[in-house]
Amino acid sequence: MAARKLAAGNWKMNGTRAALAEIDQILTEAQPGCDLLICPPATLIHAVATKGIPTGGQDCHANPSGAHTGDIAADQLRDAGASHVILGHSERRTDHAETDAAVAAKAVAAHQAGLIAVICVGETEAQRDAGETLDVIAAQLAGSVPDCATAANTVLAYEPVWAIGTGRTPTNEQIAEVHALMRDRLSARFADGADMTLLYGGSVKPGNAADIFAIPHVNGALVGGASLKASDFSPIIAALA
Ligand code: PGA
Repeated sequence: MAARKLAAGNWKMNGTRAALAEIDQILTEAQPGCDLLICPPATLIHAVATKGIPTGGQDCHANPSGAHTGDIAADQLRDAGASHVILGHSERRTDHAETDAAVAAKAVAAHQAGLIAVICVGETEAQRDAGETLDVIAAQLAGSVPDCATAANTVLAYEPVWAIGTGRTPTNEQIAEVHALMRDRLSARFADGADMTLLYGGSVKPGNAADIFAIPHVNGALVGGASLKASDFSPIIAALA
């Protein structure tokens, strides 16, 4: 099995039912050979999944149930129609102080519920400037990806924190360097690490998608702002297919 191509949209805290029309439009432009995923806010998961597009949550709790006001269990995401869940996004790591260990525990919970975990890693600008990027990514991979990860139940996303929502992207060489490290580390640790889907995320747009998808070991993208409108997301899907 080779790594599958995946165009994933992360809607973050954007969208109400009025946004569902975008899903209809995205579906009309789905391409063979490229998996799609939309991760809407929790309020829209069921409605998006009902449209027949693979759907993901943006976080889950590590416990299967209990007294955790405001949280969502992996099994509840699954029940709402989700097949995936984004874990360890830098906005969660920053806003909710999520550690690598917490992300790994959530990934185990996701796997136990039958969800595919989309685990995010990425350096801050200060870490890149200090020359620490590869060490940071290696440590996040080691700490955030649980031992039960396989190519079937886990996708990795490299998202430099400083590239998210800023319109700035790393050079192709910088992306290539990190993706090569990720492929190396995952292949060394997991029997099917060579087949795991590796995404790039951070200011992916219609205008830069094709260049980014040509980088070795980049199997797709995790797209924030440009996934909210079909007119932006569809050309990104087309560039990957
Ligand atoms: P962006 O976000 O595409 O808006 O930069 C990507 C992400 O945070 O997943």
